[in-house]
Amino acid sequence: MTHTILVTGGAGFIGSHLCDRLIQDGHDVTCLDNLFTGSKENISHLIGHERFHFFEHDVEQPFDGAYDRIFNLACPASPPHYQHDPVKTIRTNVLGMINALDLAKRTGARILQASTSEVYGDPLVHPQDESYWGNVDPLSRRACYDEGKRCAETLCFDYHREHGVDIRVIRIFNTYGPRMAKNDGRVVSNFILQALRGEPITIYGDGSYTRSFQYVDDLVEGMVRMMDQDAFVGPVNIGNPGEFTIKELAGLVIKLTASSSDISYLPAVANDPKQRKPVISLAKEKLHWEPTVVLQEGLLKTIEYFKGKV
Ligand code: NAD
Ligand code: UDP
Repeated sequence: MTHTILVTGGAGFIGSHLCDRLIQDGHDVTCLDNLFTGSKENISHLIGHERFHFFEHDVEQPFDGAYDRIFNLACPASPPHYQHDPVKTIRTNVLGMINALDLAKRTGARILQASTSEVYGDPLVHPQDESYWGNVDPLSRRACYDEGKRCAETLCFDYHREHGVDIRVIRIFNTYGPRMAKNDGRVVSNFILQALRGEPITIYGDGSYTRSFQYVDDLVEGMVRMMDQDAFVGPVNIGNPGEFTIKELAGLVIKLTASSSDISYLPAVANDPKQRKPVISLAKEKLHWEPTVVLQEGLLKTIEYFKGKV
């Protein structure tokens, strides 16, 4: 069965891969984006396709349309970008969510919210499952994103309880792959670009903090499965449980790019979560989903992409 689908944030890194997959699956896809961190380049190959439409718009302002499915991804995702204008980040998360949920309420559309492992903050429980309420400092520089995303989850569940809106909520863990913005400052794109340019690899702190890195194709598969099933609203973790220190990641990137770069240790970033690793038993049980791309394989694909960009 095919659907008429709205993807907010569809010109971004993840959104553009999702649009590709939805077009491939035969759906009619509208990408709504204000191009803050996304770009037309990410979707240039889709422009002109008869089932693809682009709509330049800011989710802070209401939007309309006859969609039966909505994926809500609009929000800058890298710390430098979401901290650039924190109030705007909160408005995007909260007003954008309300506008998307209002549209779903009016039309009966099913709506999937791209939430984040950041709802767990700097977690005191490790690894993190969906029952953990998190450890977020509401006053920190990360809070505009973390609390914005937490409020967006609350809105989803209130619209679901109060108005019967058909929600799906996924919590995405660190995701990487081709089309990450060159300037977005996230660790995978930074390290690959630095390694390819022979510049020092910038580790913030001593490199002992951990993250679990998921390749974008695995995430898109999880998103589609969550949207397609009828029995479960979430929240559900979608991430790769392989956990690496940032120092290990730096070493792997240097090896895979055969780079001559040195490592440069810079001051630690304030409020940086120390560890992150998803429990994915719920996704396995409810969606029969688990990631299939190991870090080395995904990094090689991402390195190939960035080679074409430097
Ligand atoms: P991205 O910055 O590449 O994509 C975000 C997109 O949203 C961009 O195209 C941007 O232009 C658009 N956007 C931002 N503000 C907007 C607004 N006010 N109105 C309309 N469009 C707006 O980031 P991404 O990594 O592709 O992330 C996509 C979604 O997934 C985000 O909601 C993010 O919070 C979530 N997420 C990503 C990760 C990750 O590791 N990449 C992890 C957890 C959650
Ligand atoms: N990081 C780093 N060097 C960089 C970019 C990031 O050491 O050039 C670290 C960052 O401090 C954090 C981890 O890598 O501990 C992941 O950062 P990223 O911004 O990619 O994601 P997030 O912090 O949102 O999980």
